[in-house]
Amino acid sequence: MRLRVFGSGSKGNALAIRSGGTLLLLDCGFSCRELEKRMTACGVCPADVTAVLFTHDHDDHCKGIATFHKRHPLVPLYANGNTADAIATLTGVEDGWRIFETGEPFAIGDVSVSAFSIPHDAADTVGYLFSDAASSLFVATDMGVPTLPVKYALAQATCAVLESNHDPTLLACSDRPVSLKQRIAGRCGHLSNLDAADLVREVAPPNLKTLLLAHLSRPCNAPHLALESMREALKDIEREDVALAALDQDEPSDLYEF
Ligand SMILES: [Zn+2]
Ligand SMILES: [Zn+2]
Repeated sequence: MRLRVFGSGSKGNALAIRSGGTLLLLDCGFSCRELEKRMTACGVCPADVTAVLFTHDHDDHCKGIATFHKRHPLVPLYANGNTADAIATLTGVEDGWRIFETGEPFAIGDVSVSAFSIPHDAADTVGYLFSDAASSLFVATDMGVPTLPVKYALAQATCAVLESNHDPTLLACSDRPVSLKQRIAGRCGHLSNLDAADLVREVAPPNLKTLLLAHLSRPCNAPHLALESMREALKDIEREDVALAALDQDEPSDLYEF
């Protein structure tokens, strides 16, 4: 399986997964022009996309889909029913949807897909476990608290894209309104650096080779803080062999193969 993240954070999210002849795009949270520019720069041809999947209906995960769908009308759009309805209302994209039930695995080409619920303040947010014959990719961002299905999926991961949104002290000291601070730190908000590290400590995924920290807040986090917290967790579980990196909002990631 191969993974490229085109950008991660509150200004836009999208990543591509390739296995055999299947190319999946997860979320479409940049303008279509920006997304296609980043894809092309990474050698990923937008016309080759087999399917688009969505985690949830927030703007930073779906804002490019109306134009992408116009340009590539035959590419199916996968989401659970509530998320598809909400994205259709938000973007006007009414057709092309393939609705799945959260918790019921399905296949797209060479990839088996399993969606699990995560607590977040959108219509019906999910994370995903993508598997082929060789490996499994876990993706969960925009997550208030890690639930049992999250832990179960992470335990199977070869590669994980995990939210490490904010440093709790930087969030508390920021000049953001109290209501927004409470939303971010709440049960339906975003996972902090410490939450992400505790999750990895608890699950200690036995097959994990690569761990990518995602959706870092620009004002309330810094890559070195997120990496430091996670490095400590990996040390605690004696897994300093895991390759660790923080994803960026503006720059596409390296190409990961696992
Ligand atoms: Zn988001
Ligand atoms: Zn969100």
